[in-house]
Amino acid sequence: MNDCLFCKIVAKEIPAEIVYETGRTLAFRDINPQAPTHVLVVPKQHHADAAALASADDGLADDVLKTAHAIAVQEGVAPAGYRVVFNTGPAAGQTVFHVHAHVLGGRDLNWPPG
Ligand code: 5GP
Ligand code: ZN
Repeated sequence: MNDCLFCKIVAKEIPAEIVYETGRTLAFRDINPQAPTHVLVVPKQHHADAAALASADDGLADDVLKTAHAIAVQEGVAPAGYRVVFNTGPAAGQTVFHVHAHVLGGRDLNWPPG
């Protein structure tokens, strides 16, 4: 996708603090962290949101989830507790339309979120 911010990060055209990479996923720190650990996990292949990712037929959603957990271990927030969030659609606060899992941890996380 020509105009997609996270595709540009995947292509290393825009810098990001990359913390984990697999063949099909990339994880980098959020530029505006909301917790001591706040990492975004994206599939390298462009899908707009979690609904589109769920329709990808080759286990890509599974790869994203596995990467999210690997980051939690690497960051030391598992097993104490962490949150994996897909904001899906504008009403849920999605602002970047390349699907990404937020991995949040390192502090007490309130439930329900606002
Ligand atoms: P959303 O609101 O779509 O669920 O989350 C988008 C996230 O991307 C936000 O938490 C925001 O801080 C982060 N973000 C936006 N632009 C950039 C950027 O250029 N680099 C990085 N690392 N994160 C970004
Ligand atoms: Zn993209």
